[in-house]
Amino acid sequence: MSKVLYTTIDPSTPIRLQAIKPTSDWIHPHLIESADPVKGRQFRVSGLVPKGTCLLVDRPYAVIPVVDEPESNDDLICSNPACNRRTARQLGRVLCPKACVSDVAWCSNACQSTDQYRHEFECTWLKRYSGPIRSKRGEYEFGMLWLIVRLLATRHAELRKPPASGIDRTVTSNHQQWDNGWSAIDLLCGSTQTWPHDQVRSWTLIVKKYLQNNQNLPHGLSADRILHLICQEEANSFGLYPRETGILPLEDPPVDRGEQFAAAVYPTAAIANHSCMPNIIHKPDETGRMVFTASRDILPGEECCISYFDLTRLVDLDSRRQHLRKSFKFLCQCEKCASEELETESNLLDAMPSMDDL
Ligand SMILES: [Zn+2]
Ligand SMILES: [Zn+2]
Ligand SMILES: [Zn+2]
Repeated sequence: MSKVLYTTIDPSTPIRLQAIKPTSDWIHPHLIESADPVKGRQFRVSGLVPKGTCLLVDRPYAVIPVVDEPESNDDLICSNPACNRRTARQLGRVLCPKACVSDVAWCSNACQSTDQYRHEFECTWLKRYSGPIRSKRGEYEFGMLWLIVRLLATRHAELRKPPASGIDRTVTSNHQQWDNGWSAIDLLCGSTQTWPHDQVRSWTLIVKKYLQNNQNLPHGLSADRILHLICQEEANSFGLYPRETGILPLEDPPVDRGEQFAAAVYPTAAIANHSCMPNIIHKPDETGRMVFTASRDILPGEECCISYFDLTRLVDLDSRRQHLRKSFKFLCQCEKCASEELETESNLLDAMPSMDDL
């Protein structure tokens, strides 16, 4: 039995945000980070991990709700990042006294007051820019920009109170130190080289228009750093869905992962690469933490991968590769794609007239 290398406070304990250094709550001692010359950062395991083992529970650095008509939607999550629970209307939802946006709500007065310092950072920005951004650029870009603002808001709260003043939640696992504060966000992949030139130009303009360092958004970072942060966020953010992603074989009939209710950036879970035949199932828990579970026995040295999309929705090789190329800018060469590609090629060869037929 491996020694317990990391424990943290009970996640149900109310947490004062000022005391938080956002961090992972659990990392299995066999889970290690390594680097691949082509893929970059990746997860591997250093010992056998049996099927069903929980490998990672990672608290988001920033999360936003993604729901239609938030006023009447019971799936709207609590704005306190230490909570993130659903805020059912009949259970006494608390709204922002400055009425910034109806997407901001807390599940209790306690959650609101805990979150006051962080929310103040985003409140003026939301009140001023949410309307124009939503009407001019649409809901997707509003969500992207709000997630950026929330990343900056967590950083703002992190800078105010160094971890030494509160609970130290640094993770040590397998002699590896996992840093999960802003420095982990700095390490996320994605740069202006990752995205098409036109896309980067459009983001440059919206940074200038909506995310400049000023009294509405006092982040103190350069426009270039914010542009880089958008490139990182777009390459690393997770959609949050009520059911698991990555279950194979598909059930009959297939059960999809359900409606998206939030989007988040995770400092550690973001290291996971994609496979169309993943050995990890992922799903957020009721507080928005991303949970990785082994879907089969994983052998020492094997890479741990998740699926970046719903496997019940994109099934054939072309649609999977097209989606990954469009949204994540890479050509999937996973085991499944490689074998299906070979199959297609050999079918094509079979269909061609052979020398004997000529
Ligand atoms: Zn709450
Ligand atoms: Zn507000
Ligand atoms: Zn693939």
